[in-house]
Amino acid sequence: MSELIVSLHDVAPSKAELCRRWVEILNERNIRATLLVVPGKWNGASLDTSPQFVDWLRGAEADGHEIALHGYHHIVDAKYRTTHRRQLAGTLFARGCEEFWHLPYAEAHRRIRLGRETLEGYGFCPKGFVAPGWLMSPETMKALRQSDLLYTTTHTHFIDLLHGVEEKIISLSQRPNSVLTKGGIAVNFMATEVMRYLRAPMRLAIHPNDLINARVRNANLSIIDRFVNRGYETMTYAEKHQSLSAKLSTPDPVHPE
Ligand SMILES: [Zn+2]
Repeated sequence: MSELIVSLHDVAPSKAELCRRWVEILNERNIRATLLVVPGKWNGASLDTSPQFVDWLRGAEADGHEIALHGYHHIVDAKYRTTHRRQLAGTLFARGCEEFWHLPYAEAHRRIRLGRETLEGYGFCPKGFVAPGWLMSPETMKALRQSDLLYTTTHTHFIDLLHGVEEKIISLSQRPNSVLTKGGIAVNFMATEVMRYLRAPMRLAIHPNDLINARVRNANLSIIDRFVNRGYETMTYAEKHQSLSAKLSTPDPVHPE
């Protein structure tokens, strides 16, 4: 069966109300999503100062959603900036959120560890890490490969860190509040129609602010509904990792002579 993985990015106390409404909408559709949580301080708020938000996260997990890591502070640190070319690419694709795009090994390792410890301190057990904007330095990838996290993702691939296997699954996301919004939605619509026809696996990345723009919100919901109606199975990233692991450990069937 073809797979649709829905992830809600930027899950953090500063976006609490929008996240809460998205999860409510997903629950109405029986969609279990991966909630990508920013564990450190971001937009002036942190988990430590937001006990109600942490309680809500626990409830979302109890509803079947997965809690995963989404960077640490979700903001680029000028201190670590590398080449001008990389700066331009980071700003273009992540608009200041490219926290892990320039990081050296030690700092990437430290932030991944801090993020895990923060979530574990609240009783969560994150299995995966998705960098803000999907942008990672080569050293971040190295730090992830040496961690015991199970997976990470890029814009185009799901990466099984445990088995060292990558699977191409395109991720689509809309861009609210941009001159590209209308055109982007039309392009995404065409792309999803082709993927749906081919029954290709798909990822949909939702952002809290998508809810504010009716056009973007409805485009996301329409993608989910059309794929589900086509018979796609929705799953979290952790479930995707589980099913990939099961496939990898199943020997190829022996064909009769
Ligand atoms: Zn993000």
